[in-house]
Amino acid sequence: MEDCIFCKIVKGEIPCFKVYEDERVLAFEDINPISKGHTLLIPKAHAANLQEISDDDLAAVHLASKKVIRAIQEVLHPTGVAALQLNGKGANQVVMHYHLHLVPRLPGGPPLPVSAWELQPGDMETIKRTAEKISGAMVK
Ligand code: AMP
Ligand code: ZN
Repeated sequence: MEDCIFCKIVKGEIPCFKVYEDERVLAFEDINPISKGHTLLIPKAHAANLQEISDDDLAAVHLASKKVIRAIQEVLHPTGVAALQLNGKGANQVVMHYHLHLVPRLPGGPPLPVSAWELQPGDMETIKRTAEKISGAMVK
């Protein structure tokens, strides 16, 4: 896609700090890292989000993330690694080309609020009704 910054990275029109590449996937460092080793994995083919990405590309990105997380583990020895993926402006997706964030958690690093929400029991009736609606809308 012409105006997509990540498509430009795939085409080599914009530089990146590449850590991994295969036929379908590119992984590179986020230039506004939440922590050292903050890495993005993208499909080379443009897809805006989880709804649009092809099954093969989705599988390829997530299989590649397993390789990248092992390398991060070996090099940075994080206490944990958050895998985050946002869909749509309301979820704070800024770049509309599917990407999976791998964010190593390192001692002394900043808080990661999205992974630290307070557990508040929900209304079970509402949860049940919502689950029924979603399961009723599932495409087999
Ligand atoms: P999201 O909010 O999930 O859409 O996050 C987009 C991420 O892309 C942000 O963390 C940005 O720092 C990152 N980003 C934007 N442009 C670039 C770039 N040219 N190279 C590397 N990372 C980028
Ligand atoms: Zn794109």
